[in-house]
Amino acid sequence: MRSRLDRRRHGRVFPKPAGGVDERDDFAVVSHGVAMIKTWSNDMNEGTTITFLGVSCCIPNVGLDSACFLINGRHLVDTGWGSLDRMRRYGFEPLDLESIIFTHLHHDHYLGLPHLLFYLGLRRRPAEKPIKIIGPSQDVEKVAILADEFLQISRYPELKIEREIIGLNSGGEYSIDGMKLTAFEVKHSSSVSSPIQALAYKLVDEKAGVTLVFTGDTHFYPPVADFARGSALLIHDGVHTPPAEAAEIARRAGVGKLALIHFDCEKTDEVLAGARGVFPMTFAPKEGETIRLTRGV
Ligand SMILES: [Zn+2]
Ligand SMILES: [Zn+2]
Repeated sequence: MRSRLDRRRHGRVFPKPAGGVDERDDFAVVSHGVAMIKTWSNDMNEGTTITFLGVSCCIPNVGLDSACFLINGRHLVDTGWGSLDRMRRYGFEPLDLESIIFTHLHHDHYLGLPHLLFYLGLRRRPAEKPIKIIGPSQDVEKVAILADEFLQISRYPELKIEREIIGLNSGGEYSIDGMKLTAFEVKHSSSVSSPIQALAYKLVDEKAGVTLVFTGDTHFYPPVADFARGSALLIHDGVHTPPAEAAEIARRAGVGKLALIHFDCEKTDEVLAGARGVFPMTFAPKEGETIRLTRGV
């Protein structure tokens, strides 16, 4: 087995985010039989890739977006404020999306949906290729309908794109594109709103032999450790759960790596210091960065 740090570029050239390349050389590791490689490439030929389109908090730091990411370039997890722009900036074509997976329907996680649907409508996404919109059963259909209303689809029906809504509850499963998704309800409350159904997901990429777990917003919730047990990667909210507590979830779960997202990016050093004291294999992905998970490298 070998591990390596791969920052080569492939295919289209796309800009790195401000701040340049993170030169830490401790990233590439093999654990749970899965190598994790950091790259600025959008080459999707091997393994499971996660491209972080946004990593910032509810009101994103200037020039960044709130937390949202792409899996294998075709499955968008949350839409941030502007995931459409981020996808194009980093060399991805939104028409290629197969699904949008919502962790929950707080605004910073779905504000970008109308932009995305408008783009797909203008670009005439084929009707025989309905986009799957997956999310908490409590809210996902309602928000998709509201996005249509915002876009005045009844007045401009040529913008309508076909979609399939898949509402999930805790324990619900859905298979797409050789991947199995399992939903798990987490604890998320807000001082400004009523309770909301918030999901974490386990994703098993059967082709790549890779399992990862990601939360959206969640407060410290120890059952996430059981849900994530043995996964190669856990992507966890780093603001509603203090970093050291998110790291404790990762430690209990025995995951290979912990990626913390959705916090004030000006506090990255502080967040990492807090988490690494508990779980050293923690990192803070940067916007535009791709993580590649490859079995048996
Ligand atoms: Zn949020
Ligand atoms: Zn939230």
